[in-house]
Order: sequence, then structure tokens, then C-alpha cells
Amino acid sequence: MTENRRIALVSGGNRGIGLEIARQLAEKGITTIVGSRDEEQGRAAAEALPDNVVVRQLDVADEKSVDRLATSIEEEFGRLDILVNNAGIANDRGQRGVDADLDRVREALEANLFGAWRLCEAFIPLMQRHRYGRIVNISSGMGALNDMGGGSPGYRVSKAGLNVLTRILASELRGSGILVNSVCPGWVRTDMGGSGATRSVEEGADTPVWAATLPNNGPTGGFFRDRRPIPW
Ligand code: NAP
Repeated sequence: MTENRRIALVSGGNRGIGLEIARQLAEKGITTIVGSRDEEQGRAAAEALPDNVVVRQLDVADEKSVDRLATSIEEEFGRLDILVNNAGIANDRGQRGVDADLDRVREALEANLFGAWRLCEAFIPLMQRHRYGRIVNISSGMGALNDMGGGSPGYRVSKAGLNVLTRILASELRGSGILVNSVCPGWVRTDMGGSGATRSVEEGADTPVWAATLPNNGPTGGFFRDRRPIPW
């Protein structure tokens, strides 16, 4: 199947790295659905993107919103080939594990882990129907166990959990045509990364887009930065 028949969904596609991932996928000829909590904001952001971008309301923390979108994508397109779980929050900078507000930790898990998980559950059946899928979980080096430090406990736990989800799904889906990988975009200049970050959104989106367009013999169950494996 040529890329211009493929359908992609990018959660949190209305700004930051997600918006740039959507642009790069659309420029490859892939029909790209920008998921945006606020549909109007999504439309405004997508105005500068190619014509093969469509915007749909999506709050990954809201099961009804996810179910609504899954139904409408199935009716409208009949398939979903690429799912980029990009939506995320960093809501507990400055917080410490020793005295963390667990409600904030829960909020991070809801968006960053359960949000991605919900989308996977909603769309994997559609991918299985066509025996093709690319799931890209936008993780972070802050979720890597090998050099885990303190601070931002909710964010760290949510990204470490997302990496576990990548491994579980990749294992369960091996041989199905669906490849599942985690990627770290690096430290990127966005609202989340701040203006002092070292990378542009174009650089940050490069590895996610690479993972979203892997060939059939591409890797699954990996964790990548700059298109290269990194330690979990
Ligand atoms: P950003 O500029 O803060 O954008 C976050 C995006 O996620 C926004 O579109 C936001 O939507 C959306 N979002 C948050 N909660 C959502 C929800 N419940 N449902 C749907 N959308 C939701 O962040 P970014 O820097 O582009 O980060 C994108 C991803 O990369 C995140 O997963 C982040 O953890 C990861 N990451 C970023 C960096 C970095 O340096 N920037 C480094 C490592 C990993 P609204 O506009 O509605 O708020």
C-alpha cells in the first residue's frame, strides 16, 4: 500500500512536537488526523498544514472522547495505520517523590499512560483488521530506569509505565504487522520543554516520524532517540 492511502492519528497534535509530527507525516502524503482537546485550537493550528490534515476533538483522558473518535475514524476511513501517542503533561516539576501530591501523580498517569493505553485499545482492532500498524509512544529519557533520578515523580512514573506498555504490546502483537516502539524526542523547545531547550520541533519530530513510517521488517519493542536504540 502506498503512503498516500495511509491514515495517521497524532494525539495532542495542536501544538509543540505533535503539531510538527503531523506536518511531517502529512508532507509524506499520509492523511493525518490531528487530535486536539479544543477542536477550534486544533483547526487554527492546522491552517498552516497541508490539505491532507484533518482535525478531530480528542481528550485522551476522557474515555467518551476516545470512543467517539474511534467510531468516527472507523466510519470515515475504515482504517488507522499509524497512532502517535504524543499527548502529554508535565504537571509536577519541582515535586519530590518523598512528599508527592498523589492527585497530581494520578493526573500525570491519566494523561501520559492511561491516555495512550486507551487509544491503543481503541485502535489496535482496526490495525489488526488490515494486518498493519505503527504505534509510537512518545516517552522521555526521564522515564528511563537506567539513570532514574529524583523529582517530577508523576511524570517519570508515567513515562516509565508507558515504556512498559510498549514492551507488553510489542510482545503481544509480534508477527501481527503492528510495530510498537517508544521514542524520546530529546529536549525540545515547546511550551513543555521551554525556550532554553537544545532542539527545534523539527529535530524533536524526526525520530517519532521515523518510527511511524518503519518498513515491515522494522524494529518493535524498542526505545529510540535520534533513530538509535537507547537503554530503558
Ligand atoms: P506541549 O507543547 O506541552 O504540548 C502538549 C500537547 O499535549 C498539547 O497539544 C496538549 O493539548 C496535549 N495534551 C495534554 N493533555 C492532553 C489530553 N488529556 N488529551 C489530549 N491532548 C492533551 O508538549 P511537547 O513538548 O510538544 O510534548 C509532546 C510529547 O513529547 C509529550 O508526551 C512530552 O512528554 C514528550 N516529551 C517532550 C520533551 C520536550 O523537551 N519538549 C522531552 C521529552 C518528551 P492542549 O493544547 O489542549 O493542552
